Amino acid sequence: MDLGIAGKKGIVGGASSGLGKACAMALAREGVELTIVARTEANIVAAAQEISSKTGVRVIPVAADINSDEGRAATLAACPQPDIIVNNSGGPPTGNFRDWDRAAWLDAINNNMLGAIFMIKDTVDGMIDRKFGRIVNITSSAVKAPISILGLSNSARAGLTGFVAGTSREVAKHNVTINNLLPGDFETERHTSNTKAMAKVQGRTYEEMKAIRTAAVAAGRFGDPAELADLCAYLCSVQAGFITGQNMLIDGGKYPGTF
Ligand code: NAP
Repeated sequence: MDLGIAGKKGIVGGASSGLGKACAMALAREGVELTIVARTEANIVAAAQEISSKTGVRVIPVAADINSDEGRAATLAACPQPDIIVNNSGGPPTGNFRDWDRAAWLDAINNNMLGAIFMIKDTVDGMIDRKFGRIVNITSSAVKAPISILGLSNSARAGLTGFVAGTSREVAKHNVTINNLLPGDFETERHTSNTKAMAKVQGRTYEEMKAIRTAAVAAGRFGDPAELADLCAYLCSVQAGFITGQNMLIDGGKYPGTF
C-alpha cells in the first residue's frame, strides 16, 4: 500500500532508540523527509545516518530536549513546516507516589503532557493552512489500564489524552488528524529498565519478572517496535484522514476488556 506521504516533512521525537527510532524508520521507508530528535548528540547523529543510508531519504538530526522551549525551537528551525509529527520522548521514572514531590510531578507533566501540547500548538495552524497534517502522540497503555509503579505516567499522559480528545475535533475539518498510540510491552531499553524496577519492588530476579510480564501478554511475547511503527506510519498516511481523536492500544491482547 502506498501511503501517499513521500516528500512530506516529518518530525519524530525521541528517535535515537526504541519506539521513536522505529517510527522514524517506517516513515522514512515511505519517503518522508525527517527531522529526528534526541538529547544525546552522538546517538541521534548515528540514528540519522542509519535511517538515511537504509532508505535514501534526507534525515536531519537535532540534539535537544524536545520538551523544552529551546529544544522545540531548534527542532522547528530545522523543519519549519512539518506535515507529520510523532510526539515521543522518554517516560517518567517509576516509583511510589508517596516519594514524589512537586518537582517530580512538574517534570512528568512537562515531559509527558506539555511537550506534545506545545509542539501541537506551534505547528497545527500551519497544517490547517496547508490542508494536511498528521500528528501521532506515543502515550502508553497505562492511560487505559494504569500501572501502579508508573503513577507519573498514568496521570500526565491522561492529561495529554484529554487535550487531544478536544483539539482533534476542532482541527479535523482541515484534514489535520491527531491520534494517540498506546504501546503495551515493547522490547526497548525503557521496557528493560522498567522490568528491572518491577523486579526490585517485588523481590524477584529480572528473568523471573520478564517471564511474568511476557505471560501477561495474550500474544505470549513482547512487541517489536517495528510493529508499532507500521501502525504509526499508517496513521500518518493520506488514507488515514478519517481517523482522528483515537487512542489505539497496541499490546498483543494484554488488555482484557471487550472494548
Ligand atoms: P527508549 O528506548 O528509552 O527511547 C527513548 C528515546 O527518547 C531515546 O532516543 C532518548 O534519547 C529519547 N529521549 C528521551 N527523553 C527525551 C527528550 N526530553 N527529548 C528528546 N529525546 C528524548 O524508550 P521507548 O521504550 O522507545 O519509549 C518511548 C516512549 O513510549 C516513552 O515515553 C515510554 O514511556 C513510552 N512507552 C513505552 C513502552 C514500551 O514497552 N517500550 C510502553 C508504554 C509506553 P536521549 O536519552 O538521548 O534523549
